[in-house]
Amino acid sequence: MTVRTRVAPSPTGDPHVGTAYIALFNLAFARQHEGQFVLRIEDTDQARSTAESEQSILDSMRWLGLEWDEGPDVGGQFGPYRQSERKDIYLEHVEQLLASGHAFKCYRTAAELDELRTSRQAEGKHTALKPSDLELPAEEQQRREAENAPYVVRMRVPEEGVCVVNDMLRGPIELDWSQVDAQILLKSDGMPTYHLANVVDDHLMEITHVIRGEEWINSAPKHKLLYEYFGWDMPALCHMPLLRNPDKSKLSKRKNPTSILFYDRMGFMPEALLNYLGRMGWSMPDEREQFTRDEMFANFDIHRVSLGGPVFDVDKLRWLNGLWLRDLSPEGFAERFAAWGLTPARTLPIIPHIQPRIETFSDVVPLAGHFLSGMPSLAPAQFENKAYDEELLLKTLQFGLWQLEAIRHWEKTEIEQRLFALAGQLDLKIRDFLFPFFIAIAGTSSTISVLDTMAMLGPDMSRARVRHAIELLGGLGKKRLKKLEREYRDASAVIEAKLAESGEES
Ligand code: GLU
Repeated sequence: MTVRTRVAPSPTGDPHVGTAYIALFNLAFARQHEGQFVLRIEDTDQARSTAESEQSILDSMRWLGLEWDEGPDVGGQFGPYRQSERKDIYLEHVEQLLASGHAFKCYRTAAELDELRTSRQAEGKHTALKPSDLELPAEEQQRREAENAPYVVRMRVPEEGVCVVNDMLRGPIELDWSQVDAQILLKSDGMPTYHLANVVDDHLMEITHVIRGEEWINSAPKHKLLYEYFGWDMPALCHMPLLRNPDKSKLSKRKNPTSILFYDRMGFMPEALLNYLGRMGWSMPDEREQFTRDEMFANFDIHRVSLGGPVFDVDKLRWLNGLWLRDLSPEGFAERFAAWGLTPARTLPIIPHIQPRIETFSDVVPLAGHFLSGMPSLAPAQFENKAYDEELLLKTLQFGLWQLEAIRHWEKTEIEQRLFALAGQLDLKIRDFLFPFFIAIAGTSSTISVLDTMAMLGPDMSRARVRHAIELLGGLGKKRLKKLEREYRDASAVIEAKLAESGEES
């Protein structure tokens, strides 16, 4: 048997360090067994998937040295490798399940489902929705069918009992069927859900080992059942511990930058980031901290993965990156530094903003040095401004940060719309409103547009700098944050409504 593993990201945002972490372990496992590693794009959520996100995932993974043998851009004999191009395959399989009686068409409307849930709650029932709850009397089912009413296809699941799933790291895990709902397999728009597409693809792509994040453990019973319904062998399952923030909560962009693009922009070396990801829950047999990708592969053993939640600690990563950086020769350093910060790709977007404002090249760094820096070095006094007292200053930065966190498409127009709407809510003149953001992002207010700057720096770097400024100004304790959250709710509802309105107009 040839070992085949895969990573299956959904292209719905910036490339996440968690995706690279899972990809690394899949690749290591495949290489150790002289097998193949597949990259599959899971873009069945058409509303949230974008081509730019897919491209940045591919670019970032390559940048890190995670190379796939098959994928949407390199092809392979099991393609297409993008789920949106495999619709017919899923439909065929849904037909099969309907014909064998393992799935059923569910005509329940959203209102009916809400009602079902509320009445079950009132009865104190905490089990998942089962086919017996959902199926309509035969006559009603036929009536809706004849009316061509919209429907979804759901799978049949046992009402009770225990499902045992084997995990390569945990051994047998027992999961209760009563908690497993009659999962939707095909949405009313004809697109499959993750569960169906994932199982069908893993089988057809001959994946032998599914190494994925532990957030998918609860889905394993549904998947196991689908394999049984189709009469297929299930690949071996291995659920990796999730990356954590230093406070042990699940790694999230609210607390830590999670985008690989951020770590590139901060000037981390891809070798060091990959090395650090390799240390997430895993160690070399001799416990050495610095190792290359190929050294990891040569020594890889999945059973050395420990289940305690690995902490993704940016300070530790900085330290490790320092080791890698000091290993470079001066020539190597010069080359890598230029390739990081001085390529046309990096400088061209900035040039139109600075060229009209300067006389000599030596004016570039004072005006635009913040494009090459990480967190600007700031003093609280720089934020002094007659439009602000301490309270309003922190509130403005925190509300701004929440608005920046709500942005789906990181573009100047959306940043501007949101921040300007917020200025209106806070009753601040645009100029006054933007002042603390200039300081937080650029370290000075006499530089190029802070909105353009944020658009170019990207979401994680921009948010990290605003977060850094809030901390520098003394931070917000839990109590103050709670109070602000309450106030923010109203302001944000108004902003969302305004944005929805202008979205309809355009
Ligand atoms: N598309 C899923 C994700 O984004 C893949 C999960 C899996 O590996 O099965 O995490």
